[in-house]
Amino acid sequence: MTNLSVVLEDSARKFPDKDAFIFMDKHLSFAQINGAANQIANGLVAAGIKKGDRVALSCPNLPYFPMVYFGILKTGAIVVPLSVLLKREEVAYHLQDSGASAYFCFEGSTELPMGTEGKAGFDETDGCEQFYVITSDPTAPSPIEGTKTMGMLMKDQDPFFENVVTSSDDTAVIIYTSGTTGKPKGAELTHSNLLLNAIISTEIVEAGSEDKLLIVLPLFHIFAMTVLMNAGLYKGVTSVLLPRFDAEAVLGLMEKHKITIFAGVPTMYWGLLHYENTKFDLKAIAANLKSCVSGGAALPVKVLESFAEKFGVDILEGYGMSEGSPVVTFNQEQFGKKPGSVGTPVWGVEVKVVDKNDKEVPVGEKGELVYRGHNVMKGYFNKPEANKVTLKNGWLHSGDVAVKDEDGFFYIVDRTKEMINRKGLNVYPREIEEVMMKHDAISMVAVIGVPDDEAGEEIKACVVLKDGQEISEGELIEWTKEHIAAYKYPRIIKFMDALPLSATGKILKKKLS
Ligand code: ATP
Ligand code: MG
Repeated sequence: MTNLSVVLEDSARKFPDKDAFIFMDKHLSFAQINGAANQIANGLVAAGIKKGDRVALSCPNLPYFPMVYFGILKTGAIVVPLSVLLKREEVAYHLQDSGASAYFCFEGSTELPMGTEGKAGFDETDGCEQFYVITSDPTAPSPIEGTKTMGMLMKDQDPFFENVVTSSDDTAVIIYTSGTTGKPKGAELTHSNLLLNAIISTEIVEAGSEDKLLIVLPLFHIFAMTVLMNAGLYKGVTSVLLPRFDAEAVLGLMEKHKITIFAGVPTMYWGLLHYENTKFDLKAIAANLKSCVSGGAALPVKVLESFAEKFGVDILEGYGMSEGSPVVTFNQEQFGKKPGSVGTPVWGVEVKVVDKNDKEVPVGEKGELVYRGHNVMKGYFNKPEANKVTLKNGWLHSGDVAVKDEDGFFYIVDRTKEMINRKGLNVYPREIEEVMMKHDAISMVAVIGVPDDEAGEEIKACVVLKDGQEISEGELIEWTKEHIAAYKYPRIIKFMDALPLSATGKILKKKLS
C-alpha cells in the first residue's frame, strides 16, 4: 500500500498550479508544497533519518506544517506533531516519550519551546540529535546555536523524491492526546488509519475541488490534521490558514476568500456568535458557507440553533478522538441528523455501548462507548499496560459515557472521568451545563465535582456571564433548582471572567477547582 503522502502527491499531479494553501498574501500551489516536501525528505535522508524513526514537529498553522509533515512521511519516518503551546519541560517529555531523533520547531512563536537555550535546553533528551528551526527567511542563519534551519536542510536538495516503501500497517503518525484529563499519551496511527479517515471526512462535508476551506483549528491536533488538512489535500481543495482563533479574523477571511467549509470546536462557534459584527456582510458569508462541522467537545444545542439562525447552516456535530484517527461517528446529511447527538458511525466503523463487563446495554441506557474498525490506533506508543485496558477484547474503550437511541444515533453523556459522584449518585456535568446554557445571563459554564465531607463530591458550576448581565449566586441556584432534579443541581457557583481553554479550545476542567 502506498504512503499517506499520496493525498498530496496525487493532487500535485492533478492540480499542480492550483493554490493548496493561502496564508496572508502568500499562495502556495500543490506542486510547490510537494516539491518542498520532497526537498525536506531528501535532506532528512541525507541526514540519516530512516524508516520508523520518529521526527517531532511543532509548527503553527502555516504552509511549513504540511511541507515538513509530508517530507517526514515520504522517508517512511513517523511524524510526532507537538502543540505549539508546550513549555520546555513538556517538549522534553514528548521528545523522550516518543524517542524522537529529530525535532522541527517554528521560530516565531513566543512560546518557542526550544527557547534561546536551543539544543542545550534538551540535554536530558538523549537520542534527539537533530534540531531544525523553521524560519520565514530560508536564507537566514539559525537563531539558535547548535541548530540548522529548515532552509539549510532543503538547500541544494532535489525537488523529486521516490517514497520509501511503507505498508498500510506501518505507523505514520504518533499523535499525543490533548491531555484534557491527564498526561498526554501518544496514539500510534497507521498510514491506512489516517488515509481512510481523511477520505471519509471528505464525504461528510461533501467536499469537491471547488471548495474553499478555512483552517483555524491547530494542524498539530488530530481533528484539523485529518478532517481538514489531509481531507482537503485529497480532494484538491484550497485551504486558507489562520494560526490563532479570533472571531474577527475568521469572519474577515470567510468574507474575503468566500469560504465554503469551516470546522471548529464548540468554543469557536460560541466566539463567532458572540462577536459584535459591524464590519462584515453576514449574508454574503452565509451564502457561501456550505458545510460547518464541530467536534472535540460537546456542542450545546443552543449554540447549534443560534448558529443556524445567524449563518443559515446546520453545524454537523461529530465525535472522535486521537485514538480513532479521529472520526468515529458523525451527523451526515445523507444519513440524517439529530441536534444534540453525535450522529451515526462512519463507514467501516462499528460502535456500541457496553457495561463494565463489556456486555452491550439496551437502547436508551448509559454505558461506555466502544468501537472497532479501520480507524482504531495500533496502540499507545510504549504503553503496554494502558493498551490492555483501552484495547480490551478487540474494541477501543473510549472512556466516554454514551447512549444509543432507537434510530442508531449516539449521544455523548460525558467522560467517565468527569462524572460526579454525589452522595452515591452519578451526576453528569454535561447535562447540567446544557440546562444552564439556556439561562439568558449565562455565556459559558463548566460544571465540576469538588471534594465535600458530607456528599463525597459536591456540584460546582463555574459560570461566565454575558457582558452587562448581573445575577447573584443565590438567584442562579434558585433558578437551577427549578430546572434540574434536586440531587443534581449545582450547590456552589463561581463567577469567572473566562474559562481555561486548551490549545484546541477545549475547556480544561482539570484546571478548575
Ligand atoms: P486526554 O485523552 O489526554 O485526556 P482528550 O481526550 O481531550 O485528552 P482528544 O483525543 O483530543 O483528547 O479528544 C477526544 C475526546 O473529546 C473524546 O474522548 C471525548 O471525550 C471528547 N469529544 C470529542 N468529540 C465530542 C463530542 N462531539 N461531544 C462530546 N465529547 C466529545
Ligand atoms: Mg482522551
